[in-house]
Order: sequence, then structure tokens, then C-alpha cells
Amino acid sequence: MSGMLAINGGKPVRETYLPYGKQWVDDKDIEAVTRVLRSDYLTTGPEVNKFEKLMAEYLGVKYAVAISNGTAALHAACFAAGIQHGDEVLVSPMTFAASSNSVLYCGGKPVFVDVDFQTMNIDPSKIVALITDNTKAIIAVDFTGAPCDYEKIIKIAKQNDLILIEDAAHALGANYGDRKIGNLADLTTFSFHPVKHITTGEGGLITTNDPELWRKLLLFRNHGIKRDKEQLINNHGAWYYEQHTLGYNYRITDIQCVLGTSQLSRLDGFLEMRRDIVRKYNNAFRDMPTITIPSYDDVNLSAWHLYVIRLKLDELVVGRAEIYNALLAENIGVNVHYIPVYYHPYYRKLGYKKGICPVAEQTYEELISLPLFPKMNDKDVEDVIGAVNKVVDHYRK
Ligand SMILES: *Cc1c(COP(=O)(O)O)cnc(C)c1O
Repeated sequence: MSGMLAINGGKPVRETYLPYGKQWVDDKDIEAVTRVLRSDYLTTGPEVNKFEKLMAEYLGVKYAVAISNGTAALHAACFAAGIQHGDEVLVSPMTFAASSNSVLYCGGKPVFVDVDFQTMNIDPSKIVALITDNTKAIIAVDFTGAPCDYEKIIKIAKQNDLILIEDAAHALGANYGDRKIGNLADLTTFSFHPVKHITTGEGGLITTNDPELWRKLLLFRNHGIKRDKEQLINNHGAWYYEQHTLGYNYRITDIQCVLGTSQLSRLDGFLEMRRDIVRKYNNAFRDMPTITIPSYDDVNLSAWHLYVIRLKLDELVVGRAEIYNALLAENIGVNVHYIPVYYHPYYRKLGYKKGICPVAEQTYEELISLPLFPKMNDKDVEDVIGAVNKVVDHYRK
């Protein structure tokens, strides 16, 4: 583990760069996609329905709507929830900007709720104080794949008549008790970006058990256009359709969905590989005086999209930036999830100020995400462990 740090001119722990996340597309996936490329439908054909049906079955939920990406899924969820100008939506700042951008798309106002120090998920004890007459919904984000405290959050949502949207972009395959994430909230969204659990290139999904919300999602995905004769205001003939709301072209292709279906068949294996790597990391890092390993729960099983360590800055002679740069020089693809959303200049311009979520802000200074994806081999995992030991030992007080 010893030796000069690569950032100081030493030999890096590994020769090639190890990214923090990566897809795993195999020959079966490629065959499935080429079969669709030779078929009649490239988009809005049988593969979309098939993927939706399989996803709904896997998640144990009534309806699943596949959509162009995870951000569109959040936008559609906010639309279906009826978010509009003047509405406030409670959301975690410890997330990708898309979670709260979706509120802005609908003209609503994101209200940031601080996170719990342990889990880095939205802190239920801080929600009620922020509810006003204008509050319409909560967007809970399962940070790193670990489910939020839904027992408390669902209770608060019910008592205050709020719609619960769950951004489960990190949590495909996670469990809440004996239920899969995807059927707890009124609306749950997923992403199939290549770093997520399964990929369709770009892609997303919204799940719900409510037929009314489901119909709104379908409408929103396709320009707000209705074709069902029973629902039309006029009828000029067999060709006739009507636009009833301002929707978008957020459709996903058959090419993408067949890839999703093929990937879904390997999801449980992917999850097992992620959990296996996490066990190795936890065992290697648990007793280190300089870092805190992520919290985990044996009942509500995380899907482990990310492995985020927290630096004990009191035990180190440098800050997060130096550790980050040193790990990068060792060819370890580190990352930081997340910059509190309201730090971004766009949100600053909207009037959000530093200080509104002190736990998220303090936590942000300490976070580093380490590589975690199913295709990592034993050597990759050992390299990450070796590099972390090498770097934090060097900078230890
Ligand atoms: C990836 C991600 C999104 C957005 O998904 P895209 O498919 O990239 O649009 C939204 N929220 C979170 C928490 C994410 O990680």
C-alpha cells in the first residue's frame, strides 16, 4: 500500500482509468437490438408495451410507463401530480438537479428539506415545519439506492394531503421491507442511463397504482393527444384525434425498450454483484480511522447505485479536494454526489441561499463516490481499496 502518491510523481495504483460507473451490454443484448432494427417498428411498437409489462411485474406495481429518460419521467410525474404555478414541492438537496428541475418545468417552487446525517436521505423530522398552504407534493430521493424512511414520509404525506413522488433513479431493485421500491409512492421514477442499474442508452420509467395518474402520464408522453373515441370532444371521422393538454414528445423507442427487456433479465445478478463489491469495500474500510463507510440497513435493502464514503476531515491534514485529486491520479474514477442542488448558479439566481440545509452542506464537504458497477473484477476492487488506503494513509494526521 505504501509508495509515493501518483499525484507527487509516483507510480499509480493502476495503469488504466477505472470509471465510477459503467454499463454491461452483452451479446444477447446486441442480438435483441439488431432483431428490432430488422423489424417493422423502431418506435412505439410491441417492445415498449412488453418492457412496461415486465417492469411492472418485476416491481409488483399495476402500471409502468416507459419514457425517453429519467428527467422526462420526473417531469411527467410532476405533471400527473398536477404541479403548477404557485405550488410548492418539498425535495432533497442531496440529488441530481433533475429532481427539482422537474418542479420548475411545471412552474412550481422547489422547497429544499435537509437530509438525515446518517442516511443522507430527506429527514422526515424536518418536513412538517416546511409545509404551507401551497405545498402540493414531496419528491423523495433514494440517495445511493437506499430507501428513504417511507413509514414516516407516507404518514406525513397522507396527513397533509400531499402527493408522494419518489425519485428512484438510484434504487431500481431496492426493497422496502418485503416490497420492491416502485409501488410505495403515488408515482415512482427510474432512469436507465448507462451508469444506472440497467440501461436503455437513455431511458426512464414511471410507476403508479393509480389508473388516473397512469392515463395522465400516457397523455403527457405523447403531446397530450387523445385517440380514444370515447374521450374526444368532437369526432370528424376515423382519422380524428385531439390534443387535450400540452404534452411533449417524450416517447422511448422499441430499440431502447428491447435493450431494457434484455437487461432486466440480468438485473438480479447485477444487484448481487453490486452488493458483493459493497461487502468487500465495507470490510476493507470499516475500521479505518479516516473514513466513514456508508450506512446500510438489513431490512430495507439498498440497490447500491453508489458507494459514497465520508472523510473524517478532523483526522486528515488536507480537505476533500486533495484526496479526490490524489485518487484520480491513481487512476481511480472518483466522483462527488452531490453538490447541494441550490448551490448551482441557476438556483442562486432564483433566490436560494447557502445555509438552508446545513447537514447537506456539511456532508457535501466530506463526500467521495468510489467506483461501483457489476463489471468490476476482483483486481478492480482491490485497486480501489489499495488506492484509498495509500492516499488517506499519506494524508492522515
Ligand atoms: C440519473 C438521475 C436522474 C435523471 O435521469 P436521466 O435518465 O439522466 O435523465 C434523476 N435523478 C437522479 C437522482 C438521478 O441519479
